[in-house]
This record gives sequence, structure tokens and C-alpha cells, in this order.
Amino acid sequence: MRLGPIDLYKTLPATNCGDCGQPSCLAFATQVVGYGHEVTECPHLEEAKIQKIEQVLMRQREKGVYLKKENHKITRDHLKEKIKNHNFKAISTGLKVGYSVEDGVEALKIPYFGRVVTMRHTGIVRDNVEEFDPWDEVLLYNYIFFSGSKPLRGIWVGLENFPNSLPKRAALEEGCQRRINQVFAGAPRELEEACRKLDGIPVADGHSADLAYRFQPLPKMPLLLLFWDEDREEGFDAQSKILFDEYALEYLDLEGLTFVAEKLAQNLISIKTKKEELNV
Ligand code: SF4
Repeated sequence: MRLGPIDLYKTLPATNCGDCGQPSCLAFATQVVGYGHEVTECPHLEEAKIQKIEQVLMRQREKGVYLKKENHKITRDHLKEKIKNHNFKAISTGLKVGYSVEDGVEALKIPYFGRVVTMRHTGIVRDNVEEFDPWDEVLLYNYIFFSGSKPLRGIWVGLENFPNSLPKRAALEEGCQRRINQVFAGAPRELEEACRKLDGIPVADGHSADLAYRFQPLPKMPLLLLFWDEDREEGFDAQSKILFDEYALEYLDLEGLTFVAEKLAQNLISIKTKKEELNV
């Protein structure tokens, strides 16, 4: 099932009240479907409806369906140009990525969410195995463009610890932590199963969370997911938090950090959704 702007519009209250910051419900639907705005920005939708819409949107966004790619393309092409003169051999060690020369052509091999992406000076080599979300490409070019080499600090911090992160905190909460809370509330074992499928490593010490998993979406970009399950008797909702290494900004900008955390959430939720579909 695909959800286009008109399909989404039909599920909205159609009052054009403007509480979402858009002039009309149709404008809002267009922003959500085409430009990645969150459906939760409309405060007049029931939770059950939000969850259904988010599940469909998540699947089609993964495939880039309906997303207006112009902005992504501009950013991607800009970064692609920028890395053309990078010294791949010199930066490969600091980024902890592979370096090879095949038929006289230099390439970097970048482990990324369980796959290995080949990047040449001319751009990412498409392996025809899986379509890339355009934002994945932006992220990967950014990682190479930053060419970080500073050793990670080994200290976990929240996004709020980074300078000028205020505008991105809401995106992280809405696009990542809140979605994990909604989907995995009361289902910590399912979250654990999904974490393991994504090669997450349990972290036992130093955290009060019910569940703590470390992930390595990019070689120098570890993430720590903390999850506290709901306690209905005590009236506590599920909570989660994504932490980054204190030196993460050496490797990606704030946009990249938010995206990589959202991608992690998407992947975890996809695993649960696919399992449920198989069980139907
Ligand atoms: S807040 Fe909801 S109901 Fe109001 S204009 Fe936006 S989408 Fe329509």
C-alpha cells in the first residue's frame, strides 16, 4: 500500500486549522509525504491512526517513494564534488574503512549498517543489491568529507551536549526515540531480538536502563540505545535515549547524527513489522 498526499489528506481532520504550522491540511499532507515532516505535527490525530500512518510512511520512505529528492540531490552532488580530491589512502585509517586499488582505481570500502559500500572518487558504486535512500548517500559522502581521525572519547553523551543542537533535538525525539517507545512499549524482548539482528552488542554496566545496546552503523560512529520499558501499574510510559560518542562531531554534523539515529530506529521497527507480517 502506498500513501500519497491525497491519501493522507483524506485521513486528516480537514479543518485547515493551521496548528501544524501549514496553511491547510493538504499542504500538511504534502509536507509529510514528500518532504519528511512528521505526521505527529498535526495535534488532532488519534494515536492509533498516527501509528498506522507512520508504519506505511516508514516503509515507503525507506524506498524513497514520493519523497522529493531535489534537495537531497543538491546536497549529495555537492558532497560528491567535494570528495573528488580527497586522499583516500590517507583518510582510510582515521575513518577505519578499507582502502583498495582495483584496475588502477582507488576505492574505499565502508561498513554501513551491516553492508559494505564501495566509494570511488567518482561516487558510490551501486551494487544493484539494494536501493539506497538518498539520505544514506548524503550521510556516507559526509562521513568521507569530514575525514575525521581523532580517536573517539569513549564517553556517551546525548545530542543536547553538542553545541547548537536545539533544533535537532526535537527531530531526534520525534523521528527516533518516540517511535521506538511507541513500537516497543511492553515488548522489550522483541526490541532485544531486533537489536541482536542489527548486530547490536548488549552493554551491561553503567546504565540504569532495562536494556542497553551498542551499535556500530559506521566504523567511527557508535550509538548506544537505552530503553526503559513502560510500567503500567506505576503509570510510567516507555522511554528511550540514543547516545553518541562525545567526539561524534569529528565524523558527522548534527544532521548526520540525527539521521543515523533515525535510521537505527527505522531498522529496528522494520524488523518487528516484518516479523508481524510473517505471523499474520
Ligand atoms: S493541524 Fe491537522 S487539522 Fe490542522 S491544518 Fe494541520 S493537518 Fe489540518
